[in-house]
Amino acid sequence: MNLYDKIAHIPDFPKEGILFHDVTPLMADGEAFREACQTMIEFAKKVNADVIVGPESRGFIFGCPVAYELGIGFVPIRKPNKLPRETLSVSYDLEYGSNELHVHKEDIQKGQRVLIIDDLLATGGTVEATIQMMEELGAEVVGCAFLIELEELKGRELLKDYDVLTMLKF
Ligand code: AMP
Repeated sequence: MNLYDKIAHIPDFPKEGILFHDVTPLMADGEAFREACQTMIEFAKKVNADVIVGPESRGFIFGCPVAYELGIGFVPIRKPNKLPRETLSVSYDLEYGSNELHVHKEDIQKGQRVLIIDDLLATGGTVEATIQMMEELGAEVVGCAFLIELEELKGRELLKDYDVLTMLKF
């Protein structure tokens, strides 16, 4: 199946000048969603991940099926004031705006092999901040997987030291 056809491109969303790549048509198609998740599952097996870490909110959607299939844990990365227990946090830049990310400290163990999963790699700010938190907690980032890569924004340059999977390139 051509997964490229399942991505919608919306100009000027959420603000002027941004071309938003919408993955919800892919999610709404069972076969396409499964194929995308299956590719990530194979990658997770290849890098021998023992926990999946996903930034909110679309990282949850693609990360959880992978964790479920492999019988490993899923740890969410969230915006401020969402996680109730003690967190580690870091500030990061988005293609549109900036924010702060948090993770529950207790949910990542030293030496764990972390695979970070998100829907889209843009500037790489989100994944870079996530990597920083994982490494600060003593985990090893063994890979980063994305459905979409926006090549122009060169997020991959921040990931030279990591095993990276991107499935659709725009
Ligand atoms: P970045 O930190 O710049 O790599 O941005 C990645 C995060 O922002 C991902 O979680 C995406 O869901 C979201 N994102 C950034 N740019 C876009 C875009 N043009 N279309 C859809 N989502 C985007």
